[in-house]
Parts: sequence; structure tokens; C-alpha cells
Amino acid sequence: MRYIEPHGHMVSRTTDDYLDMVTAGCAAVCEPAFWAGFDRGTASGFRDYFAQLTEHEPKRAARYGLPHFCWLCINPKESEDVGLARDVIATIPEFLSRPTVLGIGEIGLNKNSKNELRVLEMHVDLAARHDQLILVHTPHLEDKLKGTRLILDVLRADSRIKPGRVLIDHVEEHTVRAVLDRGHWAGMTLYPISKCTPARAVDILDVNGTERLWMNSACDWGESVPLAVPRTALEMRRRGWSASAIDRVVYQNPVRFLSQCPNFRLPADA
Ligand SMILES: [Zn+2]
Repeated sequence: MRYIEPHGHMVSRTTDDYLDMVTAGCAAVCEPAFWAGFDRGTASGFRDYFAQLTEHEPKRAARYGLPHFCWLCINPKESEDVGLARDVIATIPEFLSRPTVLGIGEIGLNKNSKNELRVLEMHVDLAARHDQLILVHTPHLEDKLKGTRLILDVLRADSRIKPGRVLIDHVEEHTVRAVLDRGHWAGMTLYPISKCTPARAVDILDVNGTERLWMNSACDWGESVPLAVPRTALEMRRRGWSASAIDRVVYQNPVRFLSQCPNFRLPADA
């Protein structure tokens, strides 16, 4: 089996996880900027984090032969302070030319608040000005459907944004259709205790097909499973999906979306 992990917070994981992922067939890992488990106090704290994502983590992954890419932003959980967000967003352009940066993400909403919406609009503007792909986080604890609709409206309001260059992540049964119908890509996040289980993700594929859908583990510092994508591929096999259809979801789809960014190159393509 070969697969892409399109959403893994590897700075929180051990090198054993890298070894397991490569052993299971992982061909590349993509790391969106995220919350650290605590609120960072200053823009320079984010600058250090962006250096970790663009300089240090790719080297750690390379020891296991795994290409590592990243997305940059101030995440929705730390977007309540609009002034801090403005300062952080101002530092991002200097990192966009680095060779493993895929775009702006994971931006979005956490509590669906006014300030989060303002910061989301600032990120969408940043992506448009620099012609970047966008990766969007949708809320888990608050109303996911409402948050998803708010996000879709922000994206539609900016005429510079092409829907096919935006992936909306953490979709579930009640949000996947709205995302796909707007022309965006949709990501299913496989978590042991919240978000999608492997069985639910395969149900969503059964209902919606494989077009513009991918799966990720979103493994981070909390309860999560770095091998969730290959394990869900096994669930697909158990339920009668063909090897080529599984490959389409876990490998070809992420490659298709991510290849819209010229920085996304796998060694085999070189
Ligand atoms: Zn994430």
C-alpha cells in the first residue's frame, strides 16, 4: 500500500511514529500550523514555530526518507486576539518562498466568533494576494454545520479564490455535501474519540463517491492515531473496495490536490 498523510501534526509525535508511517507505506506527510496545546503569547513565538515547520521538521522526517511539507497560519484557536493575529499574518510572507510550504492553513473557525471570522478573512486575503492553496479547519465542539456555512460564505465572498484550490477539513456526514457542492475538496479526519471513525469515513465514501475527497489522521499531541489512514484503507478493503479505488482515495486524490502547489514534489517525480 502507498498513501499520503495530508494532515499530521508531526512536531507532537515521536520518531517511532515516523518509522511506523513509512513502514505502512506513507509517501509524504503534510503538516498544517496548529495550536501547541497552549496559547503562544507573541508573534515571535509563531516565527519560531514557522521555522520549526519549514526547517527542522523536514530534516527529522528526512531521516526516515519521508518528504515533509507544511501549511502556515495562526490557527483558529488563537485567533481571538485580532492584533496578535495581524502581527503573525504579517510574518507569514517571508516564509512562503520556502521550498516545502504548500499554502495557508489550517485556518477556519473554532467557536464561530466574530474575531475568528475577521482573522479568517485576513487569511483568505493573504492566500489570494500570494496565490496560495488553502486548508480549512471546521469546528468540532461548537456547531460544525453553522461554522462550515460561515466559512463557505467567506470563501465565496472573495472572488479571487478558486474553489478547487481550497480543501475543507474535518467534514462529517452533515457537512460533506455542502463542501463538495461548492466545488471545494473535502477531508475526513479519522479520530478514535471524536470526528470520523474508519467505519463512518467509509460510509461517507459509499454515499458520496471518491471525487475530491481525502482522509487524514490529524495526529497531534492528543488522543489520535498516526496510522489511521492505512487502517481505514484496510477497512475499505474489508468492505469490498478495489485496490485501485483505495489507492485513489489515500494516494492519488491528495497528490492531485496538493500538486496544484509547485512545491509539492515526490521523489519519484523528480
Ligand atoms: Zn489539524
